[in-house]
Amino acid sequence: MQGKYAPAVASPDTAVGSLRDEATSLLQELIRLDTVNPPGNETLVAEHLRSYLEESGVACELHARVPERANLVARIPGVGDGPRLLLLSHTDTVLADPGEWQLDPWSGELRDDQIWGRGALDMKGQVAASAVAIASLAREGFEAPGDLIFAACADEEVGAGFGLQWLVDAHPDAVRAEYCINEGGGDRLVLGSRAFWVCSTAEKMSAPFRLTVHGRSGHASRPKIADNALVRAAPIVERLGEFEDEPEVGPEVEAFLRAVCGSVPAPAEAITAARAVHPMAADIVEPLLGTTLTPTMITASQKRNVIPNRCDVTVDCRILPGHTQQEVETKVVEALEGAEYDLEWIEAQGGTRSPVDSPLWDVVESFVDEVEPEAATVPLLLSGFTDSHWMREAFGTVAYGFFPMRTMEPELAARLIHSADERIELDDLELGVRFLRHAAAWMSSLR
Ligand SMILES: [Zn+2]
Repeated sequence: MQGKYAPAVASPDTAVGSLRDEATSLLQELIRLDTVNPPGNETLVAEHLRSYLEESGVACELHARVPERANLVARIPGVGDGPRLLLLSHTDTVLADPGEWQLDPWSGELRDDQIWGRGALDMKGQVAASAVAIASLAREGFEAPGDLIFAACADEEVGAGFGLQWLVDAHPDAVRAEYCINEGGGDRLVLGSRAFWVCSTAEKMSAPFRLTVHGRSGHASRPKIADNALVRAAPIVERLGEFEDEPEVGPEVEAFLRAVCGSVPAPAEAITAARAVHPMAADIVEPLLGTTLTPTMITASQKRNVIPNRCDVTVDCRILPGHTQQEVETKVVEALEGAEYDLEWIEAQGGTRSPVDSPLWDVVESFVDEVEPEAATVPLLLSGFTDSHWMREAFGTVAYGFFPMRTMEPELAARLIHSADERIELDDLELGVRFLRHAAAWMSSLR
């Protein structure tokens, strides 16, 4: 499809008001099902969603590598051969320590127009909104040329091979789609005098590595006759901590800076230019200008009185999409010139991007135009990664992270995710349902 998407008919906002209660109850029910990963037990949520969706006539499949960790895939089949749109989400959560919370993390309590509980923001809220969107559309007789698919996957938080990673491999036809809406964006930021809605379109690669420094062991009471690997590692850790990549402005950061600053500054000026608009803009841009190296773990001797002959330093490394581990290794070698160590890559995940120029972008932008005409929609490169990269890698899917949020302050939301007192505003939950129905309306307009 070419050009800007404008819905043929006005979005059915009136119907959405009554869906607020439906999404509220469903989210409360989902929060009450404990899916802390590990162990996950996501089948609890998958089965609950299946009975909810089947009541509205949505066909569901459960795909599970092990019985207790099912992935749910629901679908309104297309009536032609149009593009498929996948509403993607994950049903597992990180753990919660009830002692830190004001309310029981699995209560799903409704208080002051907020639903409380682990996963409310990350991301059972979007799970519930997606389920309500597809269920309500099915009841209204929704038809589009392509499939509208909803996948609620296990095991995103740990990534041990039970969720989407396994699904794209074992049951690719279940989730294959040209377009995908996932978590990872939708914040409304006020930067300077204007509001911006961010939609994540790309993610850095997570590629941690281990540096091993060798020495010679000995008794700790006689340090001079040994060669302490821990002491040898100290200057290496320091130099890693000081590492700064040559700044570079990729396409997402360029679009972000153009919108926020009014023009695109030189890479070396990007942080200063962003800060001149708002400190938060600088915080957003800063880790996105290059590869970051963060030493996070160190192990040496297992005994207090033994000088270690080996010290392992684990480095969290995040690489810009379009760059390789080999390129980064060359930079590490340069930064540590003169030091002796072995470097071993541990794994590599993510580092993918979708084009900003796509029909799905028009869908997101047209929604923002509808709810806040004076605001701008801007792409964002995520410093972390989500399940979107499995879709991009397996099928070349255009995958964006967007779940609109305007009532809760983005700073508060960022603080609550993976933390105590996680909760979502009912207004934001309802706005999410509205957006997902808007995206589906676009599919149906392709006829
Ligand atoms: Zn998440």
